[in-house]
Amino acid sequence: MNIHEYQAKEVLAKFGVPVPAGFAALTVEEAVAAAGKLPGPLYVVKAQIHAGGRGKGKFTELPADAKGGVRLARSADDVRAAATDMLGNTLVTIQTGPHGKQVNRLYVTDGVDIAKEFYLAMLVDRASGRIALVVSTEGGMDIEAVAHDTPEKIETLTIDPATGIMPHHGRAVAAVLGLTGDLAKQCENVVAKLYAAFIGTDASQMEINPLAVTDDGRLLVLDAKVGFDPNALYRHPDLVELRDLTEEDPAEVEASKYDLAFIKLDGTIGCLVNGAGLAMATMDIIKLNGAEPANFLDVGGGADKEKVTNAFKLILKDPAVKGILVNIFGGIMRCDIIAEGIIAAAKEVNLSVPLVVRLEGTNVELGKQILADSGLPIISGDNLGDAAAKIVAAVKKAA
Ligand code: GDP
Ligand code: MG
Repeated sequence: MNIHEYQAKEVLAKFGVPVPAGFAALTVEEAVAAAGKLPGPLYVVKAQIHAGGRGKGKFTELPADAKGGVRLARSADDVRAAATDMLGNTLVTIQTGPHGKQVNRLYVTDGVDIAKEFYLAMLVDRASGRIALVVSTEGGMDIEAVAHDTPEKIETLTIDPATGIMPHHGRAVAAVLGLTGDLAKQCENVVAKLYAAFIGTDASQMEINPLAVTDDGRLLVLDAKVGFDPNALYRHPDLVELRDLTEEDPAEVEASKYDLAFIKLDGTIGCLVNGAGLAMATMDIIKLNGAEPANFLDVGGGADKEKVTNAFKLILKDPAVKGILVNIFGGIMRCDIIAEGIIAAAKEVNLSVPLVVRLEGTNVELGKQILADSGLPIISGDNLGDAAAKIVAAVKKAA
């Protein structure tokens, strides 16, 4: 689950991470009022969307030479002009995709004079089983370009979960960033506080870009992108409150209501599978047969008729779907029960695209018999390869 920058900074501030003061605003008037509560004379007006690269982004409704989604303002009038430009308009950045995202919210912050911009991220590194600290002196800009062109400028440290964060981690980060004296001390503090925030919120990633040194010698988090582990959200009702459903894909929001692991993709073949690994394999084999999956969908191990029906409805909401491949392994789940669920769902949603079903496992013969006797035009797949070939052929034939 991702949150907005202003929310991330509020969360980090609670853990003692130094961030500039700021206020969120939904209207131009609120933005001007927010600036009135800040000391000035420099303000930053920032578009709040769930995507980075805002500074270099472009608004589709504004002239090509107009400034992006992060603007410096030196007066209330500047703030008003920036807010008027941004609110309600569509910001396209390297992370939004070509459609961009509508800006419905701004964050007006206290502007600082920047001496240096660094990059600092924390993430769960599955390979080492630790939290990794990724640090670079090349902050502010696109870190992917740094990773590509000058990978030696990115350092990675990992933190042993048994010890947690230690002063030497902070010193190591300071050394990488070339900080000494008081700034090195501030760096140790920021790193320790960020780690506490990471652990305390069950975060999955925290990207600080830039971590800035100001002209007056302060180390500040100027931009924060924070994501939380969805499996741990039950422990954080306060964080769940921060979810902004308008920033998420509507089909994915719908899927989360039924506890379906669903990710929308760009292809034409809807997939309904139990188990994430099997879902991945199913998508691979569709591609191998020359088509593209329309989604990733894992209905989970204990899928019942209702879940299967909701999954069908979700898949069919996508107008790009031209066929459905159901691939179920009946382990604890019996194939006859699944077959009945599929038939009920197919009838309820008035299925109008080809449907191939591949069943394997407990009571598979009975399951196949039930599908064959249903009178519905369900194509049976004998194995994964056969099923994928059949759905691709059926979609091509219908086209
Ligand atoms: P992003 O483009 O979405 O990553 O948004 P950021 O919050 O990182 O802002 C983009 C850039 O705006 C930063 O890299 C800074 O160079 C600049 N910026 C942000 N806040 C300030 C500020 O308070 N003062 C100054 N001078 N520049 C800022
Ligand atoms: Mg940034």
